Amino acid sequence: MAGQRVPHQPAPSFGSRFTDHMVVATHDATAGWSTPELVPFADLSLSPAAMVLHYGQAIFEGLKAFRQADGSVALFRPDLNAERFDRSARRLAMPPLPSGAFTRACIDLVRADAAEVPDERGHSLYLRPMMIATEAALGVRPADEYLFAVFASPAGAYFGDGGRPVTVWAGGTQARAAPGGTGAAKCSGNYGASLAARAEAARQGCDEVLWLDAIEHRWVEELGGMNIVFVAEADGRLTLVTPPLTDTILDGITRRSVLELADALGYGVEVRPVALEEVLAGWFSEAFACGTAAAIVPVGAVRTADGTTAIGGAGAAVADRVRDALLAVQHGVAPDVHGWLTTAVREGLEPARG
Ligand code: PLP
Repeated sequence: MAGQRVPHQPAPSFGSRFTDHMVVATHDATAGWSTPELVPFADLSLSPAAMVLHYGQAIFEGLKAFRQADGSVALFRPDLNAERFDRSARRLAMPPLPSGAFTRACIDLVRADAAEVPDERGHSLYLRPMMIATEAALGVRPADEYLFAVFASPAGAYFGDGGRPVTVWAGGTQARAAPGGTGAAKCSGNYGASLAARAEAARQGCDEVLWLDAIEHRWVEELGGMNIVFVAEADGRLTLVTPPLTDTILDGITRRSVLELADALGYGVEVRPVALEEVLAGWFSEAFACGTAAAIVPVGAVRTADGTTAIGGAGAAVADRVRDALLAVQHGVAPDVHGWLTTAVREGLEPARG
């Protein structure tokens, strides 16, 4: 019943402890970007008039470094995070980083703090690259000065209580993103604007918001920090079904990876609009959410003002297989046939700096 279930919350330990270093670079309109530098992790100093605080030019990324079976450390698909960071920057009228600087900064940080990369399966060093407008000025225009930084936090399981299926709330009236807006950018404003709906979901006893399209409130888009994949069963074949990428959905790297792994796991892939009524009518045998922070999380039920509908009910076999396959690549247990890993620290290599 609504309100009686304790929603999943990110584990209190997620993102609460940071490693000893960070990489920073600054930009001004005449000099462009400085060379990113590895420095001790420390507070930033900002003017109260810093434009990020007023007009919201703030973007970020999230990616992970995994301990490999041979003891080395690798980043998972940092090139895709770099590309998305670049797209987010352009959408927010911020200056893109020089080519290669994003991944180089991530590698430098992982090398310096390599001892903080956990060994356990599913654990990782979570990296948080970010860019903010630092110029002190009150006119509404793109700023002339920016800060880029990457810092890191050792990460265990995102949800403290493990792999329990989440219940999602699709009964709200707010929208996360509208056509022409910033939904496909990883900008901070998207997250600030989602928090009231998230609080409403929690009041409804749900773990997450299932965002629907802003126009018809009918088409499934994604969750607050994860994309969504449904499982359909037809003629004995299982197919992963997920909404197409539009400018209202974040192009998730986990989503892409899952779709690219599907064939090897024997699953079909169908990228097509998914209507909420299909989900409520029980057309899907399973659903799961996917994102860097939480990896793969089964979605067990959808709640609206009319009640709660279980999805499938036959467990989370596909989600479990996909999670295992993804983790096997991330930890270098399965061969990296797609070239998804970028080695940051070779086995036995001493941290380069720090
Ligand atoms: N959708 C949103 C809104 C997100 O914030 C995220 C997390 O970055 C995702 C989806 C999943 O993206 P990724 O798999 O790249 O972490």
